[in-house]
Amino acid sequence: MLIMKKYDVAVIGSGPGGYVAAIRCAQLGMKTALIEKYDTLGGTCLNVGCIPSKSLLDSSHHFESAQKHFTEHGIEIQGEIKINFKQMIDRKASVVEQTTKGIDYLMDKNKIEVLHGLGSFEDATHIKIEGKDAQTIEAKNSIIATGSKPASLPFIQVDKERVITSTEALKLKEIPKHLIVIGGGVIGLELGQVYRRLGAEVSVIEYADRITPVMDAGLSRELMKVLKKQGVQFFLSHGVNKVERKGDVVHVTATDKKGGEINFQGDYCLVSVGRRPYTDGLNAQAAGVQINEKGQVVVNDHLQTTAKNIYAIGDVVQGAMLAHKAEEEGVVVAEFIAGQKPHIDYNLIPNVIYTWPEVAAVGKTEEELKQEGVAYKTGQFPMRALGRSRASMDLDGFVKILAHAETDEVLGVHMIGARAADLIAEAVTAMEFRASAEDIARMSHSHPTYAEAVKEAALAATENRSIHS
Ligand code: FAD
Repeated sequence: MLIMKKYDVAVIGSGPGGYVAAIRCAQLGMKTALIEKYDTLGGTCLNVGCIPSKSLLDSSHHFESAQKHFTEHGIEIQGEIKINFKQMIDRKASVVEQTTKGIDYLMDKNKIEVLHGLGSFEDATHIKIEGKDAQTIEAKNSIIATGSKPASLPFIQVDKERVITSTEALKLKEIPKHLIVIGGGVIGLELGQVYRRLGAEVSVIEYADRITPVMDAGLSRELMKVLKKQGVQFFLSHGVNKVERKGDVVHVTATDKKGGEINFQGDYCLVSVGRRPYTDGLNAQAAGVQINEKGQVVVNDHLQTTAKNIYAIGDVVQGAMLAHKAEEEGVVVAEFIAGQKPHIDYNLIPNVIYTWPEVAAVGKTEEELKQEGVAYKTGQFPMRALGRSRASMDLDGFVKILAHAETDEVLGVHMIGARAADLIAEAVTAMEFRASAEDIARMSHSHPTYAEAVKEAALAATENRSIHS
């Protein structure tokens, strides 16, 4: 007779939320199982999200530099600079493979038992696994980390060939001639930039009156200006109401606020209108886990579901759909199960767009501070005033610091420019320690670096004392 395996914790889903939660549980001495329905670990982020998209962003950036900037740097290439698109996609696949294998290694190292198959609750302490490692296990505690899938609109039929989501856009067999992007959010802009650099005509249709509507409006404006310069076309305040494939051509119709209609024809249409929480096949109700009308698992402040011994983290619960948010939640839940009192400050989860220039932000936007009636001051510094930016020819963008008008505490940092994704870590650290703008302004920043723009923006917020502008 097969003996049912028993665990202190079973984690369902191996994305950045799930695998990190599993590692922290194991570190804290809990017997842990990680259940994953696919053959590779790492979830959306490692397989079809963060890592492959950054891989293609980097490859296409190199191509663009070779085409547009090498000559100015004094580098001459004999003959035509060509793209080997298959090689670009193969390199991306190999980066993904190395990264997901890294998670296998971490699971082994931490003695976490990986069970491949679809996990579904039989009740609050039993999970049935269907697939390669089919069995039923018993778990004192469970963590739901089942993530998200691309969302669509009711009238759009995503055929995954011509009308595609980000998953297919990361493994196309050819460079689109005209890529129609529905949705001007982070995923549409990152992938739009990849294919624009590779030579595609790219049209972004956005319902709101600006791209990246959740970010500070100043960043949206600057990013759109730069992407337009790179040749991306934008159609703001346009609602798509028809998407139809005829052979290899996709016809998209959009209407503006006054009823004016525009018709687009492209060979590919990327539907990037957000992502939906994923709980298909989980049988959550059998465990007493409630799911709300948005499809999210309902959790309290401790990320505990309506079943006391079951927790949920990452994209499947409320909040930003970001890998590092999922990771923080994974750690917090593991520590809470172990009897500790962990905490996450959601205001300090940074938000990043990996276009070039990169966009990054943490804390409150100007719009939020105005809405909340908080008196604030602004310090802004342009990237083009930095020696480092001139040396690399990365002149676009700025750093903006919002500080409390009276206390000088930093309330928000918003930046667009070279390596902003890395620079934002300084702002997160400063805000975690509740630094004032003057604290940042008085810290030495190495020269020449892009980070000097953070110091200069802090100086600008502190009695307008910026030195270099
Ligand atoms: P996921 O990563 O979605 O993992 C969930 C896992 O659960 C999956 O492997 C799934 O197969 C498994 N699963 C689901 N149901 C079951 C079940 N019943 N049984 C067994 N297994 C199950 N975020 C960033 O922070 N930075 C970025 O640069 C970034 N870029 C992105 C680019 C793209 C193109 C996309 C699509 C997303 C990007 N994201 C990025 C978002 C990021 O990928 C997600 O926020 C993150 O993966 C969420 O992690 P998660 O652990 O909650 O879920």
